[in-house]
Amino acid sequence: MTQSGDQEIDVLGEYLRSFPAIDTHDHLYPVEMLQQQVVTPDGPGMDLCGLWQTSYFPWTLPLPSRPPAQPFSQWWAQAKSAFPHGRALSSYHHLTRAIHDLYGVDFGRMDDDEANHLNEQVFCKYQSTSDWAREVVTERANIELVFIDPCWHYGELRYYYPFQILVLRIQQFLHGHSPAEFAHDPVVPGKHRISPYDLAGQWGMQIDDFDDYLDLMDRVVAEGKAMGAYTLKQAVAYLRTLHFARVPKARAARAFGKPRGELNAAEIQDFEDFIMWRLAELSAKYDIPFQIHTGPGLLPHSHPMLLCNLIEANPATRFILFHGGVPWVSEIGMMAFKFPNVWLDANWMPILSQTMARRAFHEWLDMVPSNRIMWGCDSLTPEGLYGAAEITRDVLAQVLAERVQMGNIGRDDARDIGRKILRDNALTMFPQLEKRLWKHTGKLPPAPFIAGMVASR
Ligand SMILES: [Zn+2]
Repeated sequence: MTQSGDQEIDVLGEYLRSFPAIDTHDHLYPVEMLQQQVVTPDGPGMDLCGLWQTSYFPWTLPLPSRPPAQPFSQWWAQAKSAFPHGRALSSYHHLTRAIHDLYGVDFGRMDDDEANHLNEQVFCKYQSTSDWAREVVTERANIELVFIDPCWHYGELRYYYPFQILVLRIQQFLHGHSPAEFAHDPVVPGKHRISPYDLAGQWGMQIDDFDDYLDLMDRVVAEGKAMGAYTLKQAVAYLRTLHFARVPKARAARAFGKPRGELNAAEIQDFEDFIMWRLAELSAKYDIPFQIHTGPGLLPHSHPMLLCNLIEANPATRFILFHGGVPWVSEIGMMAFKFPNVWLDANWMPILSQTMARRAFHEWLDMVPSNRIMWGCDSLTPEGLYGAAEITRDVLAQVLAERVQMGNIGRDDARDIGRKILRDNALTMFPQLEKRLWKHTGKLPPAPFIAGMVASR
């Protein structure tokens, strides 16, 4: 039977929605945080303004700020003029798709009354008794398990959701030449960064010299894994270059114990570089994959190719490179072609650019075995997560349908590749996921019990 291109896409899209996906990277806020995103005249909550403000749309097209207790209608009167400039943005499609499917509203065509009504609908969904996050993620978006990187509290290991997989955010060690470095977060002022020194105190470890510090790192990775973290995660590309030189230990040790003011830039970089190499070694030692943010960040220093020396010299470390390396999607594909210890994670890519995502998946499928590609939503809200999941499935269905139509792969191959990217590859990379699968039972069990928490306070 022959099918038109559109039919091919529809049939594949339906298939890609028919099985539960596994999302290997997200920042889904805890329910209590979602419920306090904005201060409305009716009290704290989440509303339409809050949804847009926690989306990627204002990263490129700023929206007016909202003073506490300002009525939504006043904010909307100013904000609505910004949206027409963003109608073609993938970040716009990402959230409007969710608004359409979850609330039944065409955001681009609604009038002011409809906007106010939609706003009330969103507000109601986030009331204290609501089960909205679980419903949207596990039922509407059909996602079974979500790796949640707690960007609001780096380093914390804590379950906020029963469908959550723990991620050990580890980059704080790069900044640990002095405890004073943890007084504030350089990326997001006001956000809290967990200090490894607090952990040492919690565990009764004395950190007197560089070796003590390295022992602490080892213990955090070992205990993090024992407490249920399935992966390490690092996003230092927002702060510095992704080139990490191989630095002798003695040179890195010179910075230890000194605050930033007593060090020059080269000494700080030596310390960070050495620690990054040590983290890559610990990832191999404890057999826990290493997820690394590449692409968007401190441009142009966040180019994924800058990691080549580290990857090549650590063949036993499983590097999972994030965001498809956007905009360097071809280069990251070649890295996966060249280095067998590189996996690609497409999270965030389709909501930054659907067009680039289509090109990337095509190029990767040309160069990279299909069992080395994963995906995630990389969003803060259930709506954001839903939109990202849907757009990713759309993009994959288009790419796979095009390859079927070109005669490059058969229909069964297309289904198999789609299922691997959205689900099976995560199960292979993280075999511990098997014991957390629940959809086949029809009942979501509570999150596992953790006997302690790494660096929670
Ligand atoms: Zn992220």
